[in-house]
Amino acid sequence: MRVGFIGLGNMGAPMAANLIRAGHEVSGFDPVARPAGVTMAASAAEAARGADAVVTMLPNGAILRAVAAEVIPAMAAGAVLCDCSTVDVASARAVAAAAGAAGLMAIDAPVSGGVGGAAAGTLTFMAGGSDEAFAKVRPLFEAMGRKAVHCGGPGAGQAAKICNNMILGVTMIATCEAFALADRLGLDRQKMFDVVSTSSGQSWSLTAYCPAPGVGPRSPADEGYRPGFAAELMLKDLGLSQEAAAAAGAETPMGALAAELYRRFVEEEGGRGLDFSAILRRFEPGPQA
Ligand code: NAD
Repeated sequence: MRVGFIGLGNMGAPMAANLIRAGHEVSGFDPVARPAGVTMAASAAEAARGADAVVTMLPNGAILRAVAAEVIPAMAAGAVLCDCSTVDVASARAVAAAAGAAGLMAIDAPVSGGVGGAAAGTLTFMAGGSDEAFAKVRPLFEAMGRKAVHCGGPGAGQAAKICNNMILGVTMIATCEAFALADRLGLDRQKMFDVVSTSSGQSWSLTAYCPAPGVGPRSPADEGYRPGFAAELMLKDLGLSQEAAAAAGAETPMGALAAELYRRFVEEEGGRGLDFSAILRRFEPGPQA
């Protein structure tokens, strides 16, 4: 397929490389990044012209809306605008409506798997859009990832992503509190892991991504909390889930508290640039405790 790829940062560059590796013809645009091996266009509109699909991988919904306004008039009828960024549900739906009005198809397809998954081509895509749009971009998902779930209509992919990450933020904090409580109760962390990993308090945060160094499988905790999934990206996603909850009238008190704790951790407690599992540090007793 001919693909316009807009936003070639930490995630976009390796995703575009995997499309090229799979034989797709990629024309890229990014105002800053110049990844090797990608043919670059002079503008987003130029990258989009004549493409079967335009993939965007951008920082937020405001930038997505601006880029969409630029590329939609340049795209050929029947082409698909496929946004893989993590953005607010309202922006995803607004972009889908604008694309539809111009005779295009649109799909929101945020990812999980991070920079490692983008490089390895093992991302999971959560897609929102029509069956036709999903079928058309499926070969692109296959080149960039291992799994693509069609979640429903426009915005459903973003909805799935923020629901997942709200659970992840809450369970990571709960797991960290429990390790810190275990410390204060004189319970060995490894013993807590041995019990909880096979008991009802088990979660992905504990068994696949344990926040305590030296316990469980290798994780960012064992690398000085080098991300992984940075605390500020978790804060972004928790903010999006709170925004969506407010707009939908949903009560999410645990999500709200997780968002506030990650805000403090990132903005006031030195968490910026660390993996999100480093939030364990704010609960740990001091060295003399
Ligand atoms: P990044 O900041 O590395 O890349 C974003 C790119 O967009 C940059 O290269 C920037 O120059 C470019 N850009 C900004 N404005 C632009 C414009 N007007 N036109 C074209 N390009 C523009 O960010 P990233 O880590 O690659 O993340 C991208 C998206 O993926 C975000 O929405 C993020 O939430 C999501 N995401 C990231 C991860 C991760 O682990 N990094 C995991 C899952 C999802």
